[in-house]
Amino acid sequence: MAHLLLIEDDLTIRTPLIRALRDRGHAVAAATTAMDGLRSALDDRPDLVVLDLGLPDLDGRELLRMLRAVSAVPVIVATARDDETEIVRVLDAGADDYLVKPFTAAQLDARVRAVLRRGPAAATDPAASSVVVGKLQIDPRSRQVHLDGEPVDLTPREFDLLHHLATRPDQVVTKRELMTEVWQVPYGGADKTVDVHLSWLRRKLGESALAPRYLHTVRGVGVRLSAPGQEDG
Ligand code: CA
Repeated sequence: MAHLLLIEDDLTIRTPLIRALRDRGHAVAAATTAMDGLRSALDDRPDLVVLDLGLPDLDGRELLRMLRAVSAVPVIVATARDDETEIVRVLDAGADDYLVKPFTAAQLDARVRAVLRRGPAAATDPAASSVVVGKLQIDPRSRQVHLDGEPVDLTPREFDLLHHLATRPDQVVTKRELMTEVWQVPYGGADKTVDVHLSWLRRKLGESALAPRYLHTVRGVGVRLSAPGQEDG
């Protein structure tokens, strides 16, 4: 199963495709404009994006360039024209594969699986390798977390938060850094967003601020993730 983001404005294409991809076991999110699609690609971190080139607000090629500037997510482009120049252009712009409309869900599914198998971005991206701290195991490719061998069900944001901390074990990470790196918004001092998500994360990891195992609050500074038994005192 993969988390797919379908950016397609045409309802008569989008609706049956979503249904068919879900039937094939994928989790599918959809966007109907380029700007919504870009936002969703950054916020929801899908495994793969299916991008229609003819969007109402922005040319799909332009969106592809914007996306490529900030993300290595695999992209399959859906193009209406079987035109070699067009196809070369989108591949040059950073698409991993393409499909010419009309295409079936089975064809798309086959391309999705092929692109994800290849995983060129993930294979060369050090951020994509599995992170292990103590008995906490975090796999950014499947976005799965295991603690003491048991799966932990996290929201996308909780996952990103945990991953950010776990890739910096034993370092104190400030709330400001978490807001700018995980939430990608400027930090306003009174903001409780980080605290709230940390408390949810703690609960899911079976710990609390008063009885920490992995997540240690450093008062007035931020938070540090350490394997149990390695922290001082
Ligand atoms: Ca379209």
